Amino acid sequence: MSRRPLPYPELILYNGKIRTFANQNPSCEALACSGSRIVATGKSDDVRRFAGPETRMIDLQGRTAIPGLTDTHVHLSEKGTAEMELVDCRDFYVEVHSVADILQRLANAAATAPRGSWLIAHGSPMQDFRIADHRFPDKHDLDRVCPDNPVTISFGAHVTIANSLALAAAKITRDTPDPAGGHIKHDSQTGEPTGELHERAQLIVKKVAPEFNYLQLKDGIVFALNQCLERGVTTVHDIVRYAEPVRAYQEIYKEGRMHARVSILPRVIESMIESKSLTELGLITGFGNEWLRIGGVKMSIDGGITGRNACFHEPYENDEHNHGIIRIQQDELNHTVQVCHDAGLRCCVHAIGDKAFDMALDAYENAIEHSPRKDHRHRIEHMGNWLATPKLMQRMVRSGIVAIPNIAFAYYIGDAILDCVGERRLTKAFPFRTLLKNNVIIAGGSDSPGYWPVDPLRDIACAASRKMRWGEVWIPEERITVAEAFAMHTTTAAWVGFEERDKGTLEVGKLADIVVLADDPFAIEPEKIKDLKVELTLVGGEIKYQA
Ligand SMILES: [Zn+2]
Repeated sequence: MSRRPLPYPELILYNGKIRTFANQNPSCEALACSGSRIVATGKSDDVRRFAGPETRMIDLQGRTAIPGLTDTHVHLSEKGTAEMELVDCRDFYVEVHSVADILQRLANAAATAPRGSWLIAHGSPMQDFRIADHRFPDKHDLDRVCPDNPVTISFGAHVTIANSLALAAAKITRDTPDPAGGHIKHDSQTGEPTGELHERAQLIVKKVAPEFNYLQLKDGIVFALNQCLERGVTTVHDIVRYAEPVRAYQEIYKEGRMHARVSILPRVIESMIESKSLTELGLITGFGNEWLRIGGVKMSIDGGITGRNACFHEPYENDEHNHGIIRIQQDELNHTVQVCHDAGLRCCVHAIGDKAFDMALDAYENAIEHSPRKDHRHRIEHMGNWLATPKLMQRMVRSGIVAIPNIAFAYYIGDAILDCVGERRLTKAFPFRTLLKNNVIIAGGSDSPGYWPVDPLRDIACAASRKMRWGEVWIPEERITVAEAFAMHTTTAAWVGFEERDKGTLEVGKLADIVVLADDPFAIEPEKIKDLKVELTLVGGEIKYQA
């Protein structure tokens, strides 16, 4: 038998406290969904009247529903497989308090690994600051517990430690010069490499280590997307740097295994993908469908804060010659931004230090001046974390540049950042109140899942309470309201994704991406929002996660 779609909704949620986040009718009791979209909102009795015999009815029993959440900056496809496969030494995920704890985990893994096979482990960024020894392990530590296996352990994106076998496989000796944009640390007495590799020097080892195979990559992506749903995330903006993840996403979608929506941001510098590949095909931002689309392009200016490689005008604390690392020259940056801007590709430029902010803004202002275009929605990744001077904010607003701060950095490693950047530069760290007051557009990104889990509820709690994992209530005057914090992951995030017609609020005509929470985030202490249980996540009107 075949028949036309039924004239009544497939799903009705009723008897709830539905926070629509819409300007008009910010709350309702019920909503109806049909064909992935919301078709009615209102009082329970009114909406229930639309039900047909096959309509699925969900009684919310007074629980709160909100729009699906967006994380605007993740490395999900790159890290998803690692979440399943790697030796986990991250103190934000497992109990690890010392170098000995890390070595124990590696020894356990080595015990079952075939002799000679690679062991790839991951730690957390700036873990040296938090563990009892206040240092990273070095190659000698790793050699002791894993004498027969090449081992690497990365601490965040910017530092990797390799043992002797891994260094040998990569042919790194005492005479190997630093690659451009990278640093090989040497023992000050012997001149031998210690195993500690910074920024691009990590690539020397990564190139010889085995990669995950394609099937593992796909399974890892599915796994990581499903984890997003558990925290109410229905859309991510994922940074990719080679073809396989893009192909994997398309296949996963066709196979019916894609349960959260993805906007991909191909990295076009330090990447296997060139901006030319996109522009030659004529791709512009938004290409794709509701599940998978091109969200723009990504490029990086400086290194990361966790490896002390973000580039500042003033040097790091107790490290007077270190200003950080610039990974791209202004000319190349200007050119790439201009080409992408002209082609209709939105740019997302990573800039962490204030020197890098200036370079990013110079490139944007230059491109916009050459070819004025209003609705570019260009972004600066990590802008809004600190050093948002009045001049900088004026430049952001004048050119309409979006800031993507990452308060998870404050929550997890704010104390370590204070230690290396210094209190003076961080009197206004994560100044969300100031940014909003100055009309800078901010949306939330977490840089997960390599460092910490994707969890906007944690980030919302932190932005509204300023309560950090390391105990302090940090700069409470920069608190924003719970509604403003949610906007960073709903309404504003949808706009930043060029998807404000489809997402961000629960209104008739929009996608039925809905999260049901165990409690009302607006009725509890803001810091408790991070502990809120997600009970149900719907994407396109279908239940994709149920607690
Ligand atoms: Zn990132």
